[in-house]
Parts: sequence; structure tokens; C-alpha cells
Amino acid sequence: MGDYFKTFPDSKGNYGDFGGSFIPPNLQAEMDKIADAYFSISKSHEFISELRNIRTHFQGRPTPVYFAKTLSDECGGRIYLKREDLNHTGAHKLNHCMGEALLAKYLGKKRLIAETGAGQHGVALATAAAYFGLECEIHMGEVDIEKEAPNVTRMKILGATVVPVSRGLRTLKEAVDSAFEAYMADPITSIYCIGSVVGPHPFPMMVRDFQRVVGIEAREQFFDMTGEHPDDVVACVGGGSNAMGIFSAYLEDGSVTLYGVEPMGRGPKTGDNAATITYGKPGMIHGFKCYLLQDEKGEPSPVYSIASGLDYPGVGPEHSMLHDLGKVNYTSVTDEECIDAFYALSRKEGIIPALESAHAVAFAMKLAKEQPRRSILVNLSGRGDKDIDFVIGKYGFR
Ligand SMILES: *Cc1c(COP(=O)(O)O)cnc(C)c1O
Repeated sequence: MGDYFKTFPDSKGNYGDFGGSFIPPNLQAEMDKIADAYFSISKSHEFISELRNIRTHFQGRPTPVYFAKTLSDECGGRIYLKREDLNHTGAHKLNHCMGEALLAKYLGKKRLIAETGAGQHGVALATAAAYFGLECEIHMGEVDIEKEAPNVTRMKILGATVVPVSRGLRTLKEAVDSAFEAYMADPITSIYCIGSVVGPHPFPMMVRDFQRVVGIEAREQFFDMTGEHPDDVVACVGGGSNAMGIFSAYLEDGSVTLYGVEPMGRGPKTGDNAATITYGKPGMIHGFKCYLLQDEKGEPSPVYSIASGLDYPGVGPEHSMLHDLGKVNYTSVTDEECIDAFYALSRKEGIIPALESAHAVAFAMKLAKEQPRRSILVNLSGRGDKDIDFVIGKYGFR
């Protein structure tokens, strides 16, 4: 496994049986150009030093690793948090958005185009566009625009154009279609920026590589603090970008156990969860192969999670492969467990986690109770300020 990053993906973007690129020929030609540019530009000294400078002075990296002592005393094990909630804009997403936008600048692009569901990717990309002086066009379903008003406001304050999508169910899937169409209408001056380790090649690889900073920092910080590597590393999985970021630093050590936590929502019934690897089968969505929650015809099933950032019927192709290889254990927690962890971390440590990240915390708490001798490193992917009104409205104070 020593050559993991040289082996995966292959030159066509395949991760074993997953990934690849299944898109119309004109779009494929653009993806090939992006892939070629990525391989040449992103390895240049100039690109690397500019990105490093941005991470330090704009994003506030490195983010700390923190020993959650009170929570650990309560649960039994030793729980550590990689504090991506302290990254600028409050989550890990800016790591890949700054990388994608920097690549756009080197390619001479004028406009960044993307879709957003809950608005988190839209806000991160609008931030990156503002930093680089690029235009930004975010496609968003009308239903989501109504539900996520504060993020719509943030994107507009940052100077982005929010394009309402009124077709179909008026949510994420239609927003992706709309954003792809806008990109295809103008692939010379614009570039499409995806929000996770999903989509056609080269996106799953590029986004993973831009997120690797999380794992590189965490591995060194954890070792400096404890003199050893963690027994377990835990991250929530929607598309899977924060998880790939931290897992990538430990994939080549056989001794660290990796856990990807999927949202079990209200339970196992179709439409009540988004536990893609747990319940899905190999299939195709948005131009790539992965585990997919799907009906008999191969159409994506409806999905649900309390955490809108985890609410996707597919999952990154690399996670699909890592599951089949047995390199990562995929597990799940329910909405209820997520809310308990949200309150536990807030009350015991003074850290309000994003509902997405609270899934990882919930699983770490269970693991610590079952195996109290172990050290557990959790990727705390984001802060929960965005979720407080929803939690209080639905669950009240606990
Ligand atoms: C978007 C988001 C996620 C899920 O995305 P991944 O690509 O699976 O990491 C997780 N946590 C937070 C805070 C998010 O905003």
C-alpha cells in the first residue's frame, strides 16, 4: 500500500470499480483540460507557495488538535478533535474551495460556477471568489433558498449571484443539473467547482488532494501531543471530503482503524436516511460510479438527514473502494444520537459542533464507552452556529 497515492486513482480517475467519468463528449473535453492543468500547475512551486500562504494568513491554518478531556472522562476513552470548525468560514469546505479558485486564477478563468444544497458550499466558494476577485454564480433550488435564507444572504453579501432553480423537486439534484448547464454554456471563461470528493474525474482527486492538509497537520500534531498515533480516526461522510482529508494521512499505516460515519436519520426505511455505503449498491450519479441509494431502475432514491450536508444519495468513489478493500469501516448514527452529541460537546467542552460533525462525535462517544483504553481522533468538520435555530425549534433545550 506504500504507493497508494500513485495507484489511486488511475489516469482515468478510477478507484477500482468506482469513479471514472461518464459525461457528454464536449464536457469531457473540458474536464480533460482541467485535469491536465491540475497536474502541471498544482505541482509548481509558485502554486504551492501561494496556497500555503493563503492557508496561513487568510484561513488561519493550521487548525489545532484539542484533547476533549471532560468529554473523555465522561465516556471513558481519550477523544481528540481536529478543529476544522476554527478554519475560516467555520468548516473544512474552504480548504478545497481556495484550491479550486486558485487553480481557476492560474487558468485565467473569470467566473466560478457551482450548485449548493444547504448553502455551505455556496458560502465557501463565494468567499474564495471574493478573495480572488472572481465572479461567482451559485445555483440553488427554490425550496433550499427558502429554507436556508441566512446562507443566501451571506452569499449575496460576498458578491455572488444566486440563481434560483425552479424545475423538478427544486432542490440539490436539479441545482447540479442547472449549474452544469450554465457551465457548458460558457466553459471558456468559467469553471465548475464541485463541493466534495464526488463528480467526474478529476474532481474527486483534486478535492481530496486539497483536503489532505487536514490529515497532514493532524498526524503531526497528534504525534507531538501524545508521542504516538491514534488508535482510531473518525469522520462523518456525506460526499466524503472531510473524511478523505483526515483518512489520507493514515491510509498507509495498517495500525490505525478508520471509521466513516453515515447519517441513519430517522431509521433504516428508504427515504429516512442517507446511509449510502450501509444500504446502497454500486450505481451511477452525476457522471461517476459509486455506492448509491437507488430504486430498481437505478434512479437515485430520496434521502434524508438532520444534517443537510450529509444528505446525498451517492458517496465519493474513493470511499466506495475503501469500503470494498476493507480499509475503512463505515458505520452510522441516528438523528437522536447526533442531537445528544451536539449537546454533549456544547455542554462539556464549550464547542457547538455542526450537525454533520456531531455524527462523528456521537460515534466516537459510543466507541470510547465500548473500548475505553483507545485514543480516538475525530475530524470536527465544522461549527454549529448555522444549526442552532433549527435544533432549538425542533428539539428544544436539553
Ligand atoms: C458539507 C459538510 C460536511 C459533509 O461534506 P463531506 O464532503 O462529506 O465532508 C460535513 N461537515 C460539514 C461541517 C459540512 O459543512
